[in-house]
Amino acid sequence: MVHSLPKSWVLFCSLAAILSPLAAPASALLQPGTAENANSQASTKLVGQKSEKILVTIDPGHGGKDPGAIGLDGLREVDVILPISLRVAKILEEKGVATQLTRDSDYFVGLDERVVMARRAGANIFVSIHANSIDNRPDVNGLETYHYHRGLELASIVHSNIIGVLGADRDEPLLDRGVRSARFLVLRKSEIPAILVEVGYLTSPTESVKLADEKYRERMADAIAQGILEYLDRGSNVSLNSQKSTPLANPPARKTPVNVTSPGTTPKFPLQEVPQETTQK
Ligand SMILES: [Zn+2]
Repeated sequence: MVHSLPKSWVLFCSLAAILSPLAAPASALLQPGTAENANSQASTKLVGQKSEKILVTIDPGHGGKDPGAIGLDGLREVDVILPISLRVAKILEEKGVATQLTRDSDYFVGLDERVVMARRAGANIFVSIHANSIDNRPDVNGLETYHYHRGLELASIVHSNIIGVLGADRDEPLLDRGVRSARFLVLRKSEIPAILVEVGYLTSPTESVKLADEKYRERMADAIAQGILEYLDRGSNVSLNSQKSTPLANPPARKTPVNVTSPGTTPKFPLQEVPQETTQK
């Protein structure tokens, strides 16, 4: 099936691994609104009122045999996104929001397994964290936040929070590449609001330096967490399904790697749209 992304689109980290072969044309959505950084006051409200019923799944992409994108100077996607993800989960926990990590160190977890993990735990929202790359385009950089169904508001709020913080940097502000829709497997199969944050491009000379920096990653994590808290605090879109919620211990026990082969491993995209990471690493 032809994947008809606009040519202006660059493709994402491990697209083949996370995009269904049934991929429909993705449509870019305009970045809504202005950055609206929630402050802790709003989040605190959530903590007191709903924390026991809300579970957030944080999904660091890739892991183990799949390091994700490899950027400049060998910077690996897994080494960028895991610390961000761990910090997001930590912040949420500190705010009284239960979290589930689909992995908590560098080991492989299948895509379907990630979705199932969230479902079984009764998670309310799913936030996947990735970093991006594109061949021969060192000029491409910036933040993209993806949703499929049910995740638009969550994507918009998280995206706005990140841009509101890192996009306001005086030096090399994070470029806003927009909130977008795509049929990534973890989004498509999630029955809850689910988003995938591409925190930046490892193949950008400027962005790879930033993403390799611990302080920058911490700021990224803080902004993602703040966005999640703001979303939860709005409350209306979070269906509380506590009756089926049996939160797993956080983080989940390490499992023997399961070779869950996603149907997205062999997409038939036009060659120019197949990213570097479609080859197995
Ligand atoms: Zn990725």
